[in-house]
Amino acid sequence: MRLRCEFQVSNAIRIPTTSFICLSPYHCSRLDDIGYKISKGKIVVSRKRNCSWLGCRVFPPRVVVSTSTRCCLEAQDSSSLYEKEKYPHRRLNNYGGLGGKYDTRVYPAKSLCSHCGLCDTRFIHYVKDSCAFLNQHIGELEYAVHGKERDLEKENELYFGVHLDMLAARMKQPLQGAQWSGIVTTIATRLLETGKVQGVVCVTNEESDRFQPKPILATTVEQIFASRVNKPTLSPNLSVLDAVESSGFTRIAVIGVGCQVEALRSVQSRLGLEKLYVLGTPCVDNVTRKGLDKFLRTTSSSPSTVVHYEFMQDFRVHFKHDDRVIGGNGKRWEETVPFFGLKTNELKDIFAPSCLSCFDYVNSLADLVVGYMGAPFGWQWIVIRNETGLEMLDLISSQVETMPLSSSGNRKQAVQNSIPAYDQGMTLPMWVAQLLGVVIDKLGPKGLEYARFSIDSHFTRNYLYLKRNHPNILQRHVPEYARRIIEQYHLPQ
Ligand SMILES: Cc1cc2nc3c(=O)[nH]c(=O)nc-3n(C[C@H](O)[C@H](O)[C@H](O)COP(=O)(O)OP(=O)(O)OC[C@H]3O[C@@H](n4cnc5c(N)ncnc54)[C@H](O)[C@@H]3O)c2cc1C
Ligand code: SF4
Ligand code: SF4
Repeated sequence: MRLRCEFQVSNAIRIPTTSFICLSPYHCSRLDDIGYKISKGKIVVSRKRNCSWLGCRVFPPRVVVSTSTRCCLEAQDSSSLYEKEKYPHRRLNNYGGLGGKYDTRVYPAKSLCSHCGLCDTRFIHYVKDSCAFLNQHIGELEYAVHGKERDLEKENELYFGVHLDMLAARMKQPLQGAQWSGIVTTIATRLLETGKVQGVVCVTNEESDRFQPKPILATTVEQIFASRVNKPTLSPNLSVLDAVESSGFTRIAVIGVGCQVEALRSVQSRLGLEKLYVLGTPCVDNVTRKGLDKFLRTTSSSPSTVVHYEFMQDFRVHFKHDDRVIGGNGKRWEETVPFFGLKTNELKDIFAPSCLSCFDYVNSLADLVVGYMGAPFGWQWIVIRNETGLEMLDLISSQVETMPLSSSGNRKQAVQNSIPAYDQGMTLPMWVAQLLGVVIDKLGPKGLEYARFSIDSHFTRNYLYLKRNHPNILQRHVPEYARRIIEQYHLPQ
């Protein structure tokens, strides 16, 4: 590789930054002010320098530059050095389990691990910098991915992260068996059909258990279709990253929740991809498979027939049951339980510690987020974070109906009241809970205000959990936007 030097050699010489390789997870092209010195007529650049823009490590290919009036840069055989520096994980063989370099019987984030799957792959090499629980760095990644950090002075950005637009949408023909109307599955399918990607990372379930997640790198429409509907348990989606790398694919899409996406974004530049589409969902209160059993047993009247469930905007949990299991006609029937009737005292320990410490409810680093909580009942809530997100949504523009979002009511008092109630594990008699459910559904927060209600309630709860159980990481783990949200409320000691 020979690069023409753009600059006249003089005392004010600058080496073009195109001759450097960014080694940071962001793989940015904004290398800045990399130091060098002139020695014995040669420009000497040390092998590892920091870029003064973000302080990231950069790697110059071996540079030999003569200080003649016109100079040229010569990067000598940089490819093998580059490979070694850029993809050190590729040299890992026996990396996990007993006797491996990393003992994955105990995941690096220990009890806070959300089993995102990164540590089941050679990408464990980067865990210290990438794990959402060891190095919470959403702000930096927002900058790298979206070109800006969220503006904390704008309420919608404070709550919902960087975005170009938000709207409500639903499929004109809802996809049967999807969690909501199937927007996520339809976009993923279109990405593959149009050749924008060669594969999609998504999660199906084990044949023997509809709630046991099984992440895959889908390469057919049928496989993507089989991944529809939530598996409401911790899912190691990133465990297929080794498969992604060995597939040689250069354009893929990944569907995932916040903690998975933060780790993914951190290692994105190590994947050797030309294009990555990240299609995210919001996520909160996730549970282990055992925790899910307890939740269903405690809350539903027929735990074994639940096909899926959702905490909805009408302040009720909606369970969908499959009555084939109990000899019916195969139709689905619905059961609702008001939030205020949940047996909080029994359910407190079912949520995974990772999810009780999580402040990325809205999946800040995905290109496009598809949830429900900011939209009217029955609609999906879409957050378009950047141009890639817009490109994904455009793929299904003729198949969806859309409408603007709205916001009404005032969440603040309801959130403040719920903080001590949850903390003390208060449970109301079911008839009171039903009544309260009806009243709050009529008068309570709606649309974006409901989404803020949910964010406020979870952030205050999670802050208290961290403060009591992991005070040593409180300072570094709670992002500034979450602090500002929590500061609006009075918390118990
Ligand atoms: C654990 C969990 C909690 C959620 N909580 C909220 C919430 O509080 N508020 C809100 O607005 N939205 C939440 N969502 C998102 C919402 O429930 C829907 O998933 C979303 O609106 C998409 O609906 P859909 O019909 O388009 O999805 P579908 O077309 O049915 O596709 C669902 C997709 O989710 C993926 N998936 C399933 N389970 C998991 C998992 N455990 N981890 C990662 N990916 C998975 C599958 O690969 C599939 O591609 C949550 C999602 C999950 C997975
Ligand atoms: S959350 Fe993911 S990256 Fe962190 S320790 Fe667990 S598996 Fe590893
Ligand atoms: S709640 Fe947070 S930590 Fe838990 S699975 Fe969802 S995104 Fe990950």
